[in-house]
Amino acid sequence: MSEPFPAHECDACGARYGHDPAVCRDCGAEAFDTVELSGDGRLYASTVVRVPPTGYEGEAPFVVGLVDVGGPEGVRVTARIEGTERPDPDADVAFVGETDGTLRFEVV
Ligand SMILES: [Zn+2]
Repeated sequence: MSEPFPAHECDACGARYGHDPAVCRDCGAEAFDTVELSGDGRLYASTVVRVPPTGYEGEAPFVVGLVDVGGPEGVRVTARIEGTERPDPDADVAFVGETDGTLRFEVV
């Protein structure tokens, strides 16, 4: 089961973002509402990180992917992909939470 995915929706134009954008890329507004989308997603692309950035040394290797989440009105986000070291292209994934600003999905 996936958790609801909290997306950021521009107050002015309705554009949606997976990560807090601070400024809307479509209209320049700075006010956003949180909208809960379905946490069911699909992997768009992924890569295995073997040489981790500072602060993640103990966690490599891990998988980072681009995920389309929330259906047709959803968003594309960069996220940690858990439960696999080599996900299939187009794998179905489910949102499981956010830790220290890192969105986490696991392969279904
Ligand atoms: Zn906007």
